[in-house]
Amino acid sequence: MNLLDESVTTLKGIGFKRATYFETLGIKTIRDLLQHYPFRYEDYTELLPVHIWQNNETVAYFGEVVQTQESRTRRGQIIFKALLSGKQGDIVATWFGRRQLARSLTSGKWVFCVGRSQSIYQRELVVNHHEILSDPKSVSDHLRIKAVYPATERLESRWIAAAVEQALDVTAPLPDILPAEIDRRFSLLSWSKAIQEIHLPSNRSMLFQARKTLAILEFVWLILWARTENVYVPEGIVHIQEDALTSAYLKQLPYVLTNDQRKVIEEIWSDMADVKQMHRLLQGDVGSGKTTIAILALLRTVASGYQGALMVPTEILARQHYNKSVDLLASIGVKVGILTGRSKKNERNLLLTSLADGSLDILIGTHAMLEEVVQFKSLGLVVIDEQHRFGVRQRNILEEKGSHPDVLVMTATPIPRSLALTVYGDLELSLIRELPPDRQKIQTMWIRENKRADMYGFIRKEMDQGHQVYVVCPLLAESEKMDLANATALAEHLSRDVFPMHRIGLLHGQMKNDEKREVMQAFLERDIQLLVSTTVIEVGIDVPNATIMVIENAERFGLAQLHQLRGRVGRGKAKSYCILISETTNDDGIHRLRTMVGQQDGFAIAEADLALRGPGELLGFKQHGTDLFHLADPVKDAELVPQAREIARCIEEMDVIPDMVLDQLQYLKSKISTS
Ligand code: ADP
Ligand code: MG
Repeated sequence: MNLLDESVTTLKGIGFKRATYFETLGIKTIRDLLQHYPFRYEDYTELLPVHIWQNNETVAYFGEVVQTQESRTRRGQIIFKALLSGKQGDIVATWFGRRQLARSLTSGKWVFCVGRSQSIYQRELVVNHHEILSDPKSVSDHLRIKAVYPATERLESRWIAAAVEQALDVTAPLPDILPAEIDRRFSLLSWSKAIQEIHLPSNRSMLFQARKTLAILEFVWLILWARTENVYVPEGIVHIQEDALTSAYLKQLPYVLTNDQRKVIEEIWSDMADVKQMHRLLQGDVGSGKTTIAILALLRTVASGYQGALMVPTEILARQHYNKSVDLLASIGVKVGILTGRSKKNERNLLLTSLADGSLDILIGTHAMLEEVVQFKSLGLVVIDEQHRFGVRQRNILEEKGSHPDVLVMTATPIPRSLALTVYGDLELSLIRELPPDRQKIQTMWIRENKRADMYGFIRKEMDQGHQVYVVCPLLAESEKMDLANATALAEHLSRDVFPMHRIGLLHGQMKNDEKREVMQAFLERDIQLLVSTTVIEVGIDVPNATIMVIENAERFGLAQLHQLRGRVGRGKAKSYCILISETTNDDGIHRLRTMVGQQDGFAIAEADLALRGPGELLGFKQHGTDLFHLADPVKDAELVPQAREIARCIEEMDVIPDMVLDQLQYLKSKISTS
């Protein structure tokens, strides 16, 4: 076994108990430990003169003890003070709660301290850490950049640092991962050097290079990992290139496809006709008509003699897709079924039988269709809607119900191209930028509380014209109960005091699926005119008659979320409105709300969102990105991607893939599959 894959308990000082502390950080082996990277550094390479110290910053000081004094606070805590003198200037250093210092820190001793500068006038240092040096010259050993690690209460950064140092010692010399000529060609440090420098930097420039090397390698792993998935399953299903079903369906549609829809479905059909298994990501803003594309792709697989599956994240969405498509599809002789967690037992059994004997053509459902009992006769195409809500593993389970079916994943969250390439590896990308022509701009307004009464007047008029309204309340309180109380109180207030003549409904996260479905159904059938909701209005809900989206405490939402919510209206022919209510004075909040008011384009909003939040939370990234990216930031480091792609290609073209590369890939795979 490779030393790197030994348990951390082989290190001195790490017994069973401490090993469990490491495990809570995801560290089991030495390889894990060496890839537990610092999240920041403290730079003690320079001993700055005291007169330029700022208040409350971490600084290092080196000097001679002149005088000391021990005292106690009223509560009995020991305070030890020492007057220190050195090249940086004289200071008073303070230690809190440390016994025995008076004995060791006596006048004439040389001491190196690290701590927080307290008051610039009195030049005080509150010491966190100190070393007494027998030889003042040895201070240069301490002048380095110190790594600070993600830690826990039980496992402090310095313990991790000590373990890492030991691990570097026992594994030295670390093997290299890439052949030296690749490192040289792309001006990378060797892996061993980069690991060494990321933990124990010699200087800033080496640290920078180490970070860059390791970040590029993370991209390389992602690309190789995504490719091996694709490359080893090259033969898929060859679908036919023309058929009568899709034309019949298109004829029945009450609209014509937009140019983008037409372009995208051609891309998809041409992939499907190819022998290579399709892996395509379809991106399109909310309301751009992705569902139609999904159905057209599914029909192509049916026409080719296979079955299709459409998986969506929630029961409500599954029902909506099913209800909207079942009649039209039946009219052209295609049988659709729906399977969710609440499908009744006998219905379910019938469905499973017809799925297994091939008499059912298309299955729409939630993750309930991942269960083992769900067996297709011949699965030709898998479509996954709102893919960021599913993990890679779930996608794989569904795929494995067929023999390399084509795969189409769809997302309404516009992802900048650079990010899509890095996060989704080698998925082919299709884009719908254009909205159907009957769509009108959604007029977006930001109002404050003092305009609430006016808003209610406006809402009343809209309802009287037969339109419907959403009112979304964010999660505000710590407890779900409180939020529920808020939403309930608002719904009651609206129906009793504000709109006594109208029908008000409530939808919240703690309702059972059945109840949620009933409420949504009532809204769809216009029995409910105004729906108060905690944030459970699902992405993808399509009620064209709803024309107003009110968002309470709008500052609580991120841009992407606001845009998604706004996308619930403006889906029909009538003019629609999004009203953001917020009293915020926070710069960031103001920026978000103004962006919403000024910007309709989901892609532009996604870019703005990235700039504000950074990519960490970007949908989809969390799912399988977390284990692959420790250092690299798929957006800020996007310029490293082309290099990473070239390196990945070099590796693939090698006659023998180095063991270390295979080891590392295996390692990442195992991490991902257990996450
Ligand atoms: P998405 O899933 O991309 O958010 P949907 O597929 O739910 O969007 O489509 C939103 C609405 O637009 C649906 O009511 C759908 O029937 C309608 N629609 C789709 N394509 C067109 C089109 N080309 N012209 C007009 N309406 C369309
Ligand atoms: Mg959709």
